Amino acid sequence: MSSLAKLDHAHVWHPFTQMRDWLKREPIVITSGKGAVLCDVKGREYLDGNSSIWTNIHGNQHPKINAAIRRQLQKIAHSSALGLANEPAGMLAQKLVVAANPKSEVRDPRLKKVFYSDDGSTALEVALKLAYEFTRRTRGPKSKPRFLSLAGAYHGDTIGAVSLGHIDLFHRAYSKLLFKTDRVMAPYCYRCPFNRAKPERADARDSRKCNWECVGKVEQSLAKQKKRGEPYAAFAFEPLLQGAAGMIPQPAGWLRRTTDLARAHGALLIADDVMTGFGRTGSAEEKWGKGERENLPPAPFPSFPSASPQALFACQHESVQPDFLCLAKGLTGGYLPMAATLTTQRMFDAFLAEYEEFKTFFHGHSYTGNQLGAAAALASLALLQGRASIRARTKLQHALRDDLQSLWALPNVGDIRQVGLVAGIELVRDWRTRKPFALGERAGIRVCEAMAKRGVLTRPIGNVLVLMPPYCTTAAQVRTMVQIMADSIDETFRTPPSSTPA
Ligand code: PMP
Repeated sequence: MSSLAKLDHAHVWHPFTQMRDWLKREPIVITSGKGAVLCDVKGREYLDGNSSIWTNIHGNQHPKINAAIRRQLQKIAHSSALGLANEPAGMLAQKLVVAANPKSEVRDPRLKKVFYSDDGSTALEVALKLAYEFTRRTRGPKSKPRFLSLAGAYHGDTIGAVSLGHIDLFHRAYSKLLFKTDRVMAPYCYRCPFNRAKPERADARDSRKCNWECVGKVEQSLAKQKKRGEPYAAFAFEPLLQGAAGMIPQPAGWLRRTTDLARAHGALLIADDVMTGFGRTGSAEEKWGKGERENLPPAPFPSFPSASPQALFACQHESVQPDFLCLAKGLTGGYLPMAATLTTQRMFDAFLAEYEEFKTFFHGHSYTGNQLGAAAALASLALLQGRASIRARTKLQHALRDDLQSLWALPNVGDIRQVGLVAGIELVRDWRTRKPFALGERAGIRVCEAMAKRGVLTRPIGNVLVLMPPYCTTAAQVRTMVQIMADSIDETFRTPPSSTPA
């Protein structure tokens, strides 16, 4: 074992990791990276199949981002945003506001104010606290603000963000620490009890027959809460697809319809674009996977054209303008931890008062508005908005879509879901029955371990394999990722698991 691997085993506690399993094997110790390739201490190269947990959008050592950070370093690395303004944070706020609002609203943008923090969880925490306090201020001191979020929602690991989430496995242990939020059905067409498409038919793997019950459920929850006397303070959602729930896309129109309903019932909108932001969901016309759009039952509500065919944020695909837009992960191109919560003038104004009224937003972090992060983010945004990058993303999205088709032939592949440059491949015992593997069988983990041995790194979500390449990945590299995934699925399910299923 390398000396660096020994140091890790001696002292580092890894996130979302069963450390007993971790300590059984020599870890891959990454020492460098270039583009979509990561290199370990032994000189082995790997393709980064999940953009380093969905963050690294342009690959490593991008000359423009590297140069921007170096330039900033020669001026200053960090000064506090508590009491001081700084150059790149101000410039970035302006660029984010322009990117987040429709072109028609450039003069009077709806999302106008930017509150910086450190990561996705804190971006959500900020939105939650602001929505809570805003609601109490506007509805009066007797108000008891309540939040609605989606089944399977994941919004981060701080206590507020966990309270908003509904992944039982992650959240159960802390249930007594959390505040109560309400959960509503989220679309999951492949396993939807209302989807009457027959699973055993080959063409049913990508078709749906329903009456949009998932929209009806959201409407019912909103109406029920209103009847109780006080509407929800806010509806929180991951736009277009739920990530940690298993890369589950929402059918076209769901997002716009449910957010319209939430607004009509008096709730603010908290859009968690942490995973989906910064071009990840691709161009509007390409957002759906194989056959999905054609097979959808007609929606009983109008469809909404995308605000822009190359939307940077998932919300924009259905022209949804939230009250809070939470951004992190790809904000700095995956170089540095930084997050932003964009909100409205109306929200901002609710916190204006004389000092002694103590209506200040009492929240902030030591690294809020960090200059190095903001410099990286400015460079990343400029790249994202360049024509070459847009063209490359579209081409890569098509290559990924075409390559993924080969996986349908594998009997343990139940569903393949793609939105832009995100793919979720759901593993099942048998595609005809859709029977899931028990979590204890570690089906996803075993496939990913086999992939790592062959030189592709990614992390599963339970039984769902994830492919989320950096935008600089070449078509040949994507093909390799998918081929290695196919070989690893095949190898894993030909060999029985080493541990006993739970
Ligand atoms: N929201 C979403 C949708 C996420 O996917 C994540 C992280 N996977 C978070 C919030 C939390 O972000 P972070 O890990 O940066 O705190």
